[in-house]
Amino acid sequence: MCLLKKRGIFRRWWKELDIVKILPYVRDRLAEVYFWHLGVYFEPQYSIARKISTKNLYMLSLIDDTYDIYGTLDELTLFTEAIERWNIDASEQLPSYMKIIYCGLLDVYDEIESDLTNENKSFLVNYSIIETKKVVMAYFQEAKWYYGKTVPKMEQYMKNGISTSVYVQIAATSWLGMGKVATKDAFDCIATEPPILVVSCIIRRLLNDLLSHEEERKRGDAPSGIECYIKEYGVRKEEAYNRKFLEGSKMKNTSK
Ligand SMILES: [Mg+2]
Repeated sequence: MCLLKKRGIFRRWWKELDIVKILPYVRDRLAEVYFWHLGVYFEPQYSIARKISTKNLYMLSLIDDTYDIYGTLDELTLFTEAIERWNIDASEQLPSYMKIIYCGLLDVYDEIESDLTNENKSFLVNYSIIETKKVVMAYFQEAKWYYGKTVPKMEQYMKNGISTSVYVQIAATSWLGMGKVATKDAFDCIATEPPILVVSCIIRRLLNDLLSHEEERKRGDAPSGIECYIKEYGVRKEEAYNRKFLEGSKMKNTSK
C-alpha cells in the first residue's frame, strides 16, 4: 500500500516534468532508480530518503545524457555556468530544453530543503549541492574531451571519473532524509572523500566502463576508460578488458 502511494507521488512528479515528450534523447529511468533505492533502504521510516534519492538520481541521469549525447559545447558551457551559480535567475541564459532540467533540479533541492526544515537540518542540503557541482564539472570535462577529439591519459580520466561515478554525490544525498542517523559529522566525513568512498568510485567507474563502453560509443559518448587505456598502452580491447585495464587502474588515491 505504502509502495503504491509512493508510486503515485513519483508518477505525478514525473508527469509534471513531462521529460519524455520534451527531451526524447534521455533515458527515462524513474522506475529503475526508484527500485535501486528501495534496495538501498526499504524500511518505512526512510520514505523521505527514498524520495530524495530517487529524484536526485533521476535528475542526474537526465543531466548525464544531456552532456553525453545531446548538448552542444556552447550549450553545455552555459549549463555548467548556471550550475555553478545555482540560482533560478541563471536559467534565463539557457536554451529552453535545458531550462526544464535546470529548474527541475532546483525544484528537487527546494523540496529537499523543505523536507528537512522540521528537523532544522536544511543546511545539510549544501553538502549535496557542492557534490552535484563537482559531478557536473566532471561531465563538462568529458564533453570537452569529446568535442576536442581528445582521449585523455588513464590517470586524468580516472581522476575525473571519481566524480562522474557520482558515488560521492550519492553518498552525500542519500543521507539527507535519514533523520538522526545523518549527523553533520557524517556529511563532513563524506566531504573529505575518504579512501573507502574513492575506491568505491573507482570500482564503479571501471565496471560501468567495462559493461557499457561499446553501447555508449554507439550513442556518441565521450571516450571511456577502455578507450583511454587502449590508446595509452597500445593494447587490443580484449587485453584491456582482461588484464592491463584493471592492472593499470590500481590507483593511488587520485582524488586530491
Ligand atoms: Mg556520462
